[in-house]
Amino acid sequence: MYSMNSIDEIRGQFPALGQKVWGKPLVYLDNGATSQKPQCVIDLVDKMHCGANANVHRAMHKLSDDATALYEGAREKVRQFINAPARENIIFTSGTTASINLVASSFCRRFLGEGDEIIVSGDSHHSNIVPWQMACEAAGASIKVIPVLENGMWDMEAFRGLVGNKVKIVAVEHISNVLGIVNPVKEVIEVAHAHGIPVLVDGAQGIVHCKVDVQEMDCDFYAFSGHKIYAATGSGVLYGRQELLEKMPPYMGGGDMVDTVTFGKTTYAPLPLKFEAGTPNFIAQASLAPALEFAQSLREGEIARVIEAEERKIIAYLKEELQKIEGCTVYGLGWMQQEGAQEPVWGAPGSKIPLFSFNIEGCFPSDLAQLLDKMGVAVRTGLMCCEPLMTRFGVTSMVRVSFLPYNTFAEAEHFITSLHRAVRMLR
Ligand code: PLP
Repeated sequence: MYSMNSIDEIRGQFPALGQKVWGKPLVYLDNGATSQKPQCVIDLVDKMHCGANANVHRAMHKLSDDATALYEGAREKVRQFINAPARENIIFTSGTTASINLVASSFCRRFLGEGDEIIVSGDSHHSNIVPWQMACEAAGASIKVIPVLENGMWDMEAFRGLVGNKVKIVAVEHISNVLGIVNPVKEVIEVAHAHGIPVLVDGAQGIVHCKVDVQEMDCDFYAFSGHKIYAATGSGVLYGRQELLEKMPPYMGGGDMVDTVTFGKTTYAPLPLKFEAGTPNFIAQASLAPALEFAQSLREGEIARVIEAEERKIIAYLKEELQKIEGCTVYGLGWMQQEGAQEPVWGAPGSKIPLFSFNIEGCFPSDLAQLLDKMGVAVRTGLMCCEPLMTRFGVTSMVRVSFLPYNTFAEAEHFITSLHRAVRMLR
């Protein structure tokens, strides 16, 4: 475990945060897209490239044994991190997109038929829309959508009305990458399960900001990317309920996912390897072990309280300062948008994470982003892979700032000062 007592000590673990861009200290606020990497992850990747670099599960030699131990060790770390019952539940993929495609392809080949329906949430990332559309096209099925209310929360009444015996799977966002509100996934799961319908949760943002216990959540699938939670790019996870994974056909065929192969017939390896064809990105996957250990150490003890206090300050400050800017619309403020609404428990459904998307009248998002970049502030703009949600709010682009525990309140202040400068330059 890592011992860190302050945000500065956390920052000290991330070499990339110390750099300057355009001669200005970097203020990295594009964490919703990918996180920077702590030294422990960089060291593990280096160590493997310089030493334990051999294909996993394949050879009877020391290097392969070492690489396999690190790869399988990371699987155990993932299992513990999300409290999955067994290693069989943990499939390594290249990221959330690959995890959802795996389920959309394999589950739907087995369980989706003509006239069936799939429910997705209206705040879905394209990777939680397009794979299901492809499966629906193949099967002659259709997609139904949980509407998003003006404050960014789901219309649960409408969701209840969509659930019926034609629905074969529900696939929803744990936290939208545009709105940053913790969604009521547990409630969705309870309603869906009452009808015998399995639920996939897109945890690309959720895994980073919430403590995830898949048994407590009772989800059937949970998909996430390693690169958003400090691990190397190319790592990802699909958690699946074992009974379902056993029934699903393999996704890709190739090495490592087989038991015996003849030209007439192939039998498949047991879980989880049945879904891990070919050489995996074993170094990136192995980096999930130090990455998740690092993430875990930020969620325990005094440092967890320090982070929560800083994030609460950042959220309150950004909400107020953004709304003070003339012509600024902030999307999906959730409970904060409702006069007199009670704040949910920190991290519980309805609560906000330090992620804000907005538009400012008279300023193109891409112009704002370019000017902010020149001031050292990295933000995200565009559709954010959520075109239907953009359409829902009647826009084609937004600006997004997203924070991680290594970001400081001072950075939030610097962002607001820089934003004012950028707006003055554009108006
Ligand atoms: N889902 C959500 C909510 C995301 O934020 C992202 C990435 O931004 C994805 C899915 C896709 O993740 P990846 O590109 O790592 O597969």
